[in-house]
Amino acid sequence: MQKITIAIDGYSSCGKSTLAKALAHKLGYNYIDTGAMYRAVTLYAIQNKLVDEAQNIRQQDLINVLPLIDVSFELNSHTHHSDVVLNGVNVEHEIRGMEVSNLVSKVSAIKEVREKMVASQRALGKRKAVVMDGRDIGTHVFPKAELKLFMIADPDVRAKRRQDEFSSKGQYFSTDEVEMSLLKRDMADISREESPLTQADDAVILDNSELSREEQLEFVLKLIADLQFISREEQSHH
Ligand code: C5P
Repeated sequence: MQKITIAIDGYSSCGKSTLAKALAHKLGYNYIDTGAMYRAVTLYAIQNKLVDEAQNIRQQDLINVLPLIDVSFELNSHTHHSDVVLNGVNVEHEIRGMEVSNLVSKVSAIKEVREKMVASQRALGKRKAVVMDGRDIGTHVFPKAELKLFMIADPDVRAKRRQDEFSSKGQYFSTDEVEMSLLKRDMADISREESPLTQADDAVILDNSELSREEQLEFVLKLIADLQFISREEQSHH
């Protein structure tokens, strides 16, 4: 089967990474969580006091130290997925907290940060056979991806999912607090100047508010099978 690039974009907590992991597992592809990369840079900013009291990023200071920030991935032998590594330290757990979540959109809006992350995302995906999720994968990072999905889900469903994710890690927040944080992040992501979150013209919309994980996987595997069929048809006509 021909190796392809699968780009998954969408709002926060729409289940992008759950679907991406399942797809990568099923297809034997690499999964790259690009949100984790922006979260790692945000954690660096917090650790290095590049955030002021008003919760604003000291933007120029962060830009100046960008060459010192190395974000990579390492395979976790328990989960069989890649964990994000910041300057040699596995930070997969730290980047998922509320503090990083509430600041990450400010960091990801900075042009220089995006340029650095996009360059490394393109390098990671250059051999195809990759499932990458984020906000600008189908529109900017891999505009020629063979399959683009744009995921949406009901805000209440999303807030509940994120709340469950937090509580499974021993962090407890009200549904309202989680929903506010999600919606604020979405607003920032769709309204920023640099590669805002938008649906690519050729993306397939997947609303998973009422779909099980299995149903979503089945839906996408069918899209991939159709793609392979179309490309074989095209070849036979040439
Ligand atoms: O996917 P996740 O919720 O972990 O992403 C965290 C944040 O990183 C997003 O809210 C967005 O601000 C930023 N992001 C981005 N571009 C991507 C992936 C994530 O701007 N490709």
